[in-house]
Amino acid sequence: MTADAPQSILAPNGTVGIVGGGQLGRMLALAAAELGLKTHIYCPEADCPAAQVATAFTQAPYDDMAALTAFATQVDVVTYEFENIPVTTVAQLAQHKNVFPSAAALEVAQDRLVEKSFMRAQGLDVAAFFDITDLDSLTTALAETGGTGILKTRRFGYDGKGQWRLDAESDLAAVLQELNGQPAILEKLVPFEREVSILVARAQDGTTAAYDVIENVHRHHILHSSTLPAALPADAHKQATQIAEKLAAALDYVGVLAIECFVVGDALLINEIAPRVHNSGHLTQDACHCGQFEQHIRAIAGWPLGDARAHSNAVMTNLLGDEIEQWHGLAAQPATYIHLYGKAEARDGRKMGHVTQLMPKA
Ligand code: AMP
Repeated sequence: MTADAPQSILAPNGTVGIVGGGQLGRMLALAAAELGLKTHIYCPEADCPAAQVATAFTQAPYDDMAALTAFATQVDVVTYEFENIPVTTVAQLAQHKNVFPSAAALEVAQDRLVEKSFMRAQGLDVAAFFDITDLDSLTTALAETGGTGILKTRRFGYDGKGQWRLDAESDLAAVLQELNGQPAILEKLVPFEREVSILVARAQDGTTAAYDVIENVHRHHILHSSTLPAALPADAHKQATQIAEKLAAALDYVGVLAIECFVVGDALLINEIAPRVHNSGHLTQDACHCGQFEQHIRAIAGWPLGDARAHSNAVMTNLLGDEIEQWHGLAAQPATYIHLYGKAEARDGRKMGHVTQLMPKA
């Protein structure tokens, strides 16, 4: 949908279809409920976190065209909560109902080579990257990046999966064997000082609302904690908002878009984008007038965007695996908001919940 196309507005009691049933879908469904909207979750797994709090649930595979069509006929607008659903799924749904963000935006976000080429074409900064197809291209690229770099699969990488840090000692042939023919890129190592994310919402009419920049700390490639605001000079916050608005407009985006960046001196280098609400944005639920989940629902439902400004500073910490066992003590902390995802099994590294602690704004 373009900014001059007619908006589709979902009135209270309308139904939002959400593809994907994890914690992001759950928090989207809860936010929709606060606005008097119903939700219908589409997910292959039984008893998923989102289905527990939604109005309706379809359990079916992402490539079941008949089930997708039936789902689409029962909802008023469709969104999705993770980026590894097939583009064909979104295309099938889009034949029946508006799907936000669009299949085109999803395609850009699903492939690191397409994504980085898109950023570069928009004049946005990214780490130097090279298309890797074989040992020759990898050897040449590694020489260009100064002998070190990160090899990443183009598709389906998350939380550090599908990545290899390479240096002079690396056995390139062995790494390529592990890669097993998957298309990949090599990125130059960025000597970053901080990792941050920029969240922006864009409405169907092209208006935007950006959140203050959030600073992230990863442990073992998984997000550990996020802090609002990031410790950046005022200019960098302004630059971040400009990047976010430019990118959202270039993608003709509707919904919340997350942009993960490296901070190097005064520069913000984009690492990757997520066409959805994002773990680093969870603290906006409690620290901002309108959190990311409500904001996403507002955008796709054609409502006015909410106020993205923070009323408090905040630190969000993920509860992974058996860290959830601390729930009782955490629930007793002052100025702390606890969000648990209803997952039965606390596997190692699995995101089970998060806590957000608020602090007065400086
Ligand atoms: P990604 O899956 O691309 O988000 O990468 C996971 C993590 O690896 C990032 O959060 C960074 O900590 C690190 N990383 C990824 N790409 C680079 C890079 N080009 N230079 C330095 N560190 C990186």
